[in-house]
Amino acid sequence: MTGERNYLGVPAPRPKAAFFELSSCEGCQLQLFNNEATLTEFLSLLEIVRFREVMTGGSDEYAIAFVEGSVTRSDEIERLRAIRGNAEVLVALGSCACFGGVNQLKNRFSDPRFAARAVYGDFPITTMAAHPLEDFVAVDLRIYGCPVKKEEVERIVTDLVVGKKVVHPKYPVCMECKANENICLYDLGEPCLGPITRAGCDAWCPNNRFGCWGCRGPAEGANIAQLEEIMKARGFTAEVILDRLECFGGFRDAADELRKKTDEQERSPGT
Ligand code: SF4
Ligand code: SF4
Ligand code: SF4
Repeated sequence: MTGERNYLGVPAPRPKAAFFELSSCEGCQLQLFNNEATLTEFLSLLEIVRFREVMTGGSDEYAIAFVEGSVTRSDEIERLRAIRGNAEVLVALGSCACFGGVNQLKNRFSDPRFAARAVYGDFPITTMAAHPLEDFVAVDLRIYGCPVKKEEVERIVTDLVVGKKVVHPKYPVCMECKANENICLYDLGEPCLGPITRAGCDAWCPNNRFGCWGCRGPAEGANIAQLEEIMKARGFTAEVILDRLECFGGFRDAADELRKKTDEQERSPGT
């Protein structure tokens, strides 16, 4: 890491950082430049040597690689391994990189070519099931969210640069939602994954009267079976629950288990 500078009177490095996208909407990268009030301070933390959305050219000399998107093509595996080889720290940026994100919805189809045909028609395109980065390389740090929340990225990057341990909230979104004095969406007849989803977004969706879809993955000790009971008691079908659990990939294991249980019940009703 190069470029010594001062942080609260203590010498702090200004590491070289590069940003990359695999299969993604690039919304997470866009978020980073979405907060003009703090943009110059954020940029002063890092020496950015590659960021296709905002600069031309680029260098392969970097200490930190931020990688957005999931792996959905074989050439992306090679690219990701090369990025990993160059970086001291590899950061998975956003739900696609952490869990497969919305891209992994196509994994519901047993043949990925079905989704490719539905989207691209006869256009020649290679595709495979969507994977999180950790399926191919070691990931040092995850920044959750679809998209990531700029304020949280700033906090995490500051911790990273000054050598502080990055700590994610262990508690669920409900804690932030209650602190914000929102009316619970269940009382308004809406489903919400807030009780089982990792906090850190400041209850972004419930603050705006939308139920949580679990984009940040499970909170520590998430009691998914209990939430299923609550949702069923409130009249939500297994499909409504599955839609949310399957949306971003963070609840993949719980969704697979529930999908299996639901399929078995459909095959043998009354058991
Ligand atoms: S996590 Fe969401 S916002 Fe970020 S790249 Fe994936 S789809 Fe886009
Ligand atoms: S709206 Fe969702 S996040 Fe908020 S208290 Fe209710 S269940 Fe929890
Ligand atoms: S409320 Fe849920 S879906 Fe919305 S940003 Fe937060 S974790 Fe993601």
